[in-house]
Amino acid sequence: MSESKLSPAVAAVLPEAIAIRRDLHQHPEVAFEELRTAAVVAAKLRELGLKPRTGIAKTGVTALLKGGAGDGPTVLLRADMDALPVTEENDVPYRSTIPGRMHACGHDGHTAILLGAARVLQLRMPELPGRVKLVFQPAEETIGGAEPMIAEGVLDDPPVDYAFGLHLWAPQPTGTVGVCAGPFMAGTDMIRIRVTGSGGHAAMPAQCVDPILAAAQLVTGIQSIVSRNLPPREPAVVSITQFHAGDTFNVIPPYAELVGTARYYSDAVRDTIRGRLEQLVRDIPAAFGATGELTVIPGYPVTVNDRAMTELVRAAAAEAVGPEQVVPVEPVMGGEDFAYFLQRVPGCYFTVGIQNEAKGTGRPHHHPRFDLDEDALGIGIETLVRVAERALQQTG
Ligand SMILES: [Zn+2]
Ligand SMILES: [Zn+2]
Repeated sequence: MSESKLSPAVAAVLPEAIAIRRDLHQHPEVAFEELRTAAVVAAKLRELGLKPRTGIAKTGVTALLKGGAGDGPTVLLRADMDALPVTEENDVPYRSTIPGRMHACGHDGHTAILLGAARVLQLRMPELPGRVKLVFQPAEETIGGAEPMIAEGVLDDPPVDYAFGLHLWAPQPTGTVGVCAGPFMAGTDMIRIRVTGSGGHAAMPAQCVDPILAAAQLVTGIQSIVSRNLPPREPAVVSITQFHAGDTFNVIPPYAELVGTARYYSDAVRDTIRGRLEQLVRDIPAAFGATGELTVIPGYPVTVNDRAMTELVRAAAAEAVGPEQVVPVEPVMGGEDFAYFLQRVPGCYFTVGIQNEAKGTGRPHHHPRFDLDEDALGIGIETLVRVAERALQQTG
C-alpha cells in the first residue's frame, strides 16, 4: 500500500512515528527495565498537553484523551514497550546500540503507532464522545505487565468499556490487517514433574525403584491426553521438553524431573489437561512403586476476541486499507498478555502486516534479523484511529 492512501492527519504524523520507532529501536529495554522508553512516551504525551501517569507496574504509562461531544464509552488502546535479550544482526542505520538487547518483536513499532494515534485522536476528540485511555505496558515478553497494571487500576477511573491492541505481524504482507474472531492466542501452562523412586546399584535393579522407567512411561502416558481425552477438533498441545535424571552409568538415580508446556484455546480444555496430568502423575509412577509430584505454573490465559468488536475492527480496517486487504489470521499457539484485558472487557487484538520482500522485512519475530516495514506504522495508526472512533460511538 502506498502512503497516499493514508488520511492527511495520519500522513502528517508518520515521519515523527518513524523517528520515535527508530529511536526506541536503537535503545531497546527488556521487561520491567523500560525506563528510558517510558520517559520518551511520557514526554511525547506531555507535548500533546496530556498529564501522563507513570510508574504503573514499574514502568507502565497511561494518559487520558477526553472527548468534547458528551458522554460516551471509555476505549482503551494498548501498546507493549519491551524488547528481547537478542543481539541484533541487521545492518541498518537505526540498529540497536546495546549488545544482547533488541526490539526483535516489533514493540518499538507498537509504541510509535500508539503515540501517533494519540496525536491524531487528540485533534479529533473535540467532535467525539467518551474518552480514550492510552496504555503503554511493560514486559509482554516475560511474566507480563498487563495483569499488574490492571491490579493497579488501569481498567478503573474511568472504567474501561472496550479494549484494543495490535501486533505488527511478520507472516502478513504490508498493507494488510488481520482479524480473528474468538480465541486468537493460546493459553499457556508450564508443567514441572518430579518422579521419585529409590536409587541404587544399576546391577541390582530389583533393590531399587527406577524413576527413569516410571518417568518414561509417564511421558508416553501424557501423550494420550491430546489424542485420547480431547475432542479431535479442539486444538491443544502438551509437550514434554526437558527430561533430567542421573549422572552416572552404573547408578539408578533417586529421582527424575520433567518439564514441559501445555497450550489450549479454552478453559475447558485447560481443565481437562490439568485434570488428566494430575491423574497420570499420581497413578503411572505409583504403578512402578514410585511417586509423582506435579506443579502447574499458569502462564497467560487465552486471548479471546469479542465477536462484535472483531467486526468493528474489520469494518474500521476495511476503511483504512480497503476490504480486500483485511485478511483472516490463523490462531497461534503463542501466548499474549493482552488476554488479561480481554478477560475483563470486550475488545479485539488484531495484526498489521510488515512483510515486504523488496525491503527484506518479514523474518520471524524474535529472529536477530527481524525488521519491520515502516509503511506499516502509518497503516497501524490509520486503523487504530478508526477503531477508536468507531468504538467511541458505540451505544449500550
Ligand atoms: Zn515477542
Ligand atoms: Zn510481541
